[in-house]
Amino acid sequence: MARIYLDNNATTPVRQEVAEAVAGMLKGCYGNPSTLYCIGQEAHVSLEHARDVMAGVLGANRDEIIFTSGGTESDNIAVFGVARAMRKKGNHIITTKFEHHAVLNPCKALEKDGWSVTYLPVGPEGVVEPSDVERAITDKTVLISIMHANNEVGTVQPIAEIGKIAKARKITFHTDAVQSFAKLPIKVDEMGIDLLSASSHKIYGPKGVGLLYVRKGTKIMPIMYGGHQERSLRPGTENVPGIVGFGKATELMDAEREAEEARLVGMRDRLWEELSKKIPHIKLHGHPTKRLAGTLNIGFEFVEGESLILRLDEYGICVASGSACTSDALEPSHVLSALGIPPEGSHGALRFSLGRENTESDVDKLIEVLPKVVDDLRSFSPLYKEYLRNQKAAAG
Ligand code: PLP
Repeated sequence: MARIYLDNNATTPVRQEVAEAVAGMLKGCYGNPSTLYCIGQEAHVSLEHARDVMAGVLGANRDEIIFTSGGTESDNIAVFGVARAMRKKGNHIITTKFEHHAVLNPCKALEKDGWSVTYLPVGPEGVVEPSDVERAITDKTVLISIMHANNEVGTVQPIAEIGKIAKARKITFHTDAVQSFAKLPIKVDEMGIDLLSASSHKIYGPKGVGLLYVRKGTKIMPIMYGGHQERSLRPGTENVPGIVGFGKATELMDAEREAEEARLVGMRDRLWEELSKKIPHIKLHGHPTKRLAGTLNIGFEFVEGESLILRLDEYGICVASGSACTSDALEPSHVLSALGIPPEGSHGALRFSLGRENTESDVDKLIEVLPKVVDDLRSFSPLYKEYLRNQKAAAG
């Protein structure tokens, strides 16, 4: 059975050109990039080429790019690294309630160490209000960390406006751009970003590689100690094949970004239009337009997200209920809760995230299968039966 993969916010298939670039490095370029002889220097040249690609895409300088093991590590270095460097100046951090756990959990750990953290609310459409950020600033605030695009509902935050506020108040501004890097235009200077996290496996690159952009002059300390690699902020011999793959994936994404965005928006919106015509009692979660091109999060009343996932899997269709990292936990999604969606709404939510391998025929298949699956599951739901009885009684 042909698989239809619609979970590209969880991870993406490695594209062919990237796999070839990684394999080329694994087979032919094993040198340690910190060594001086030619085998090491070959690896160094490849590493620095990838750094140049990243700097170019972000409008940054090459020495402001730090390679890491992925988005989680980049977020941890940003939060703990600034906290350690700025402790004498203040002990207050501003973030949001719907960040990824890679930001939320470091903040929670800091609270246990006496830090104070403001978790800003987001509006019902999943967008942070810049005036809320401004109001939350105190003379102890040393870091603002607000994600660019949300992984579950795809909403895109007004990063440039928040960056302006942070700059005016001389506060370090970090954005988790794991879901938006190379998908949305990002220029760190124009958006007032001091620190930015990105991850390779969300853009058809290998897993276990990421980057942290660190603006020159930002006060930040390492969270791990060792050699002098990556300006001593991330010591350890670099994962050169992975970084080369990440560089290749970024180059390719950047070249096709606009055309791909338009294609994904077309498929995403057609999917929503058709499903909302064919399935009653469903709701779009997040903002109707300020959203990642491929992300569609829908709440289905009277069904469980997990049952939908398993039934769709029988048809070869892979989708997610919440963020992949929490799909085995039974608590409602913290992102949907932050949008004011009650636990029962959260339990019936599905996230479809389309990517470059999806085609219109994948969308057709989902439009054909999903209404049947929902109908079938609802026929077993006592709540749905009760709803129908009440409707009938009300109609006389
Ligand atoms: N931040 C966001 C917004 C994410 O979506 C993810 C992964 O899902 C991460 C951070 C963690 O990235 P990684 O899997 O590279 O550690």
